[in-house]
Amino acid sequence: MNANIKKNKTITDILSEEVDYDAKRKNRSRYTALGHPKKVKRILIHGATFVITTDSKNKLQVQANRSIYIVDGKIKEVFPVNKKSIPINKIDLIYDASKRSGIVVTPGFINAHAHPPMYLLRSSMTLDKGNVVDQVKKMAELEAKMNNQDFFLGAVGDFTEEQKYGITTTLSHYGVFDPVEEAAKLTRQRVINAISAVSNSHPKNSPEMVAKILAKRKNYFSQPAISIHYVHRASPDQLKKIKQLVKKYKVLLTLHSAENEEWVQQCVEKYGKRTVEALVDLGLANSNTILSHAVHFSDEEIKLVKKHKIGIVHLPTSNKLHKSGNFKYPLFVKYKADKQICLGTDSVISKNSLDLLSEALQARIMHNATHRVNYEDLFKMMTSQAANILKLEKLGKIMPGYKADLSFWKLRDRGFMPYNESNPVSLVGNMITHGGRNIRDLMIDGQFIISNRVHSLIDESNLMTALQESHTKLRKRLKK
Ligand SMILES: [Zn+2]
Repeated sequence: MNANIKKNKTITDILSEEVDYDAKRKNRSRYTALGHPKKVKRILIHGATFVITTDSKNKLQVQANRSIYIVDGKIKEVFPVNKKSIPINKIDLIYDASKRSGIVVTPGFINAHAHPPMYLLRSSMTLDKGNVVDQVKKMAELEAKMNNQDFFLGAVGDFTEEQKYGITTTLSHYGVFDPVEEAAKLTRQRVINAISAVSNSHPKNSPEMVAKILAKRKNYFSQPAISIHYVHRASPDQLKKIKQLVKKYKVLLTLHSAENEEWVQQCVEKYGKRTVEALVDLGLANSNTILSHAVHFSDEEIKLVKKHKIGIVHLPTSNKLHKSGNFKYPLFVKYKADKQICLGTDSVISKNSLDLLSEALQARIMHNATHRVNYEDLFKMMTSQAANILKLEKLGKIMPGYKADLSFWKLRDRGFMPYNESNPVSLVGNMITHGGRNIRDLMIDGQFIISNRVHSLIDESNLMTALQESHTKLRKRLKK
C-alpha cells in the first residue's frame, strides 16, 4: 500500500485523484487457465495474503502468504508461497490471491439451520406486530399455497444468497425434499436435506414417506436427513419410527426446540417433561440430534445436552425478532456444552439477510452483558465446530485432506481494513464486527461457483424476476 502514497502528494490528493473507472477495472481477473483441460481438476490458489482456519489442534490460525493446491475437489497442500512451487504441468487453473493487496481465504461457512423454500416469502416478515405464534400461523397459510416450482425457486434464491455471503453448506429443515434437492444440484450448494417427518406446513408428511427417501439416500446430490417441526407435534408412535430410521440409516435428526415457554409447556403436557428430558425418555438424545433455537432450557436440560452430545443451533437474530427470549450461553459454558453450539440463519422471515457473519455479531451482542463470546469461538461456530456437530467429515478447515469449500474475501475492504499487522488475528474481529458482506469468489468441492463476484451457474437478474413473479402469483392464490 505504501507504494501508492507518493512523496509529493498529500493523502487528500491521493484519495481524490481522478480515476478512470474502466481502465482501473481492466484485467481485474485473478484467473489464468493453463492448457485446455476438459475439466478443471487441479487448481493453485497462489499466495493468499492470509488464510484463516482452525488447525489440527483446534486453534485458530491466521497464516500469511499461503498457497493452496487443490486436486479433484480436495485440498492437497497448503504451503508458504516462497517455500515451494507446483510444476506448471500439474496445474489447470491458477487463481492469483496475492495481487492488489490480495485475498483472505476462509473455509466456506456452515449454516446449521435454514428453511430455504421460504425465501419466496421475504415480504411476509412482520416486525411491527404479532409474535412468533401468529407468524408461524400466517406462514403456514401462504406455504399451503406454494407449489413445487415455488419451493424450488425459493431454495435457489436462498442458497445463492448464502453463497454470496460465503456459506457453502446448509442444513435445510423443510417439508419437501425434491425441490430442495434440485436447487442444491443446480447451485452446487452442499446441503443436508432434512425432510420433515412431522411437519407444520406439510401435514401429510410421515415417517413412512421419509423412510422411502432414506432408502434411496445414495442416489441424491444432497445428503438426506430427518426433521420434525416440534416434538410436541409428533405422536409417540411417530417418534418411535423416527428413532428407528435414525438408527438404521445413521442420519441426522433436527428439531425446533424450546423457542418459547408456551411450546415447552405443550411438550410437558404431552410427554410429562421439558424438551430435552422428554427426548432422553424417547431415546432421541444423542449426537445425531440437532436442536435449533434451544432458548428455554433449564440447567438440567443443558447438562443433558452435554451428556448426550446433542448438537445445538443458536439463532440470535431470529430469537430477537420473534421475541423468543435469550439463549442461555453462559450456562452452556458453565456446563461445558458450548463446544456443541453452532450458528444458523433460519429463513428470511426470521432474519435480515442470509449471512452468518452478522449472526456471529448478533451472538456477541446478545450475550455481551453476561458473557463475552470470543471472535475465535464465533469463527469456529461458523466453520470447524459446525462441521463437527453436523458430522461433516473433512469440512470446515483449510488443511490437506479437507474438501475444497473456500470463501475468498478481498483484503482491501472495509470489512478488514485497517487491521493490526503485527496481530493479524484482529482480521477475525474486524470481519465479524463489520456485520457481513459479499465474498469475491467462492469454491465448493473444488469448483468456482462465484468468480469475480458473479455467480457461475445462475443468472441473478433472471432469478430476481422469477422470484418476483412467483411471489406475486402466490399472493393472488392466497386471496382466492
Ligand atoms: Zn426454524
